[in-house]
Amino acid sequence: MKKITPKDSFIAKTETDEFLVILFKTSKNKIASFIMDLFAHFYEPFIVNEKSIIITLNIGISLYPQDGTNDEELLTKAIVALGKAKKEGENTFFVFEENLEKDVRNHISLKEQLAKILKERGFLLFAQPYFLTTNKEISGAEILLRISHNGNIESIANVIEFLETSGLILKVEDYLFEEIKKFVKNVRIPLSINISSKSLASPDILSKLRELREYFDYPFICEITERLFMEKSAIEKVNKIKELDIKIAIDDFGTGYSSLSYIENLPVDIIKIDISFIKRMLNEPRVLAIVQTIIDLAKKLNIKTIAEGVENEDEFRILRLLMCDYVQGYYLSKPAPIESLINLK
Ligand code: C2E
Ligand code: CA
Ligand code: CA
Repeated sequence: MKKITPKDSFIAKTETDEFLVILFKTSKNKIASFIMDLFAHFYEPFIVNEKSIIITLNIGISLYPQDGTNDEELLTKAIVALGKAKKEGENTFFVFEENLEKDVRNHISLKEQLAKILKERGFLLFAQPYFLTTNKEISGAEILLRISHNGNIESIANVIEFLETSGLILKVEDYLFEEIKKFVKNVRIPLSINISSKSLASPDILSKLRELREYFDYPFICEITERLFMEKSAIEKVNKIKELDIKIAIDDFGTGYSSLSYIENLPVDIIKIDISFIKRMLNEPRVLAIVQTIIDLAKKLNIKTIAEGVENEDEFRILRLLMCDYVQGYYLSKPAPIESLINLK
């Protein structure tokens, strides 16, 4: 990208898989040729370690001064345009248009709404235990946030991406940490906390985790999605987290692009086999083979395995046969308010 962007442009990396390019003193024609150029370069596969990798891209564009006169406005509109492009499929671009104003307003109002819910302590801590496969003994619990809104309790799954792109997730996680500190002394099983890519990238995550660690009498676990382990800088961060005597779990294992052989080099204690494999393994022998391979390899590397989303006895029994260490899912326990963990065990 650096090679083909005009000299006086600005390139930044904003997310694991997202870049921001600012073209100064440009014109519509120059923008068009830049986009064509970008697509042309990405149509060719990239060769990495003799493997050919195809990368698709989406582009969202906003223009100064029509679409905004400050950075925040321009970025919001580029993000909204990017969202539109992504909906249209791979290798698409979208220029912000007047009629997207509505989306921008929705974006802003959702942000305000969520900020208000946060302020009113409407984010609730739920927890879902996981169990030893051999005897169904409770071994730990993952904290999952819920949103209390208009009398309903909802998952944050629908807004998690929004929380991340808007940066609000950092405030949500600050709140989460404060809440955890309140009851941690009454919980006697290891707790897992989901760490978003934004928090992992934030400069003060280490000091926040160090402080949280001091409240615990035993290590807790940070769950980090597999996708993030693609980043060298993230792996360095994870190594520093481990130095704080905090354990690391790879979340959603199998959904990223990692090859099995490389988990050997990752600083992880636990692999969480993604729910999509557990769902399909009974009907698809190839998926079962993958699950078995993950478990066997993890064992050899001294990494524990947790199967996510175990919903029934059949799945449970297969996982016991395969000697998966722990199971988590509706079969043994749904997520419940965190209070249910207090004084357990
Ligand atoms: P995740 O970390 O992969 O969490 C597992 C999700 O699977 C949870 O959804 C859980 O309720 C659901 N689940 C558990 N057992 C079963 C089962 O047997 N069947 C099915 N179908 N689903 C099951 P939930 O709570 O809606 O959370 C969704 C995602 O939101 C999480 O995925 C995580 O990525 C994110 N999330 C939740 N809480 C937090 C948080 O505190 N911080 C951050 N950064 N992300 C969070
Ligand atoms: Ca998780
Ligand atoms: Ca997961």
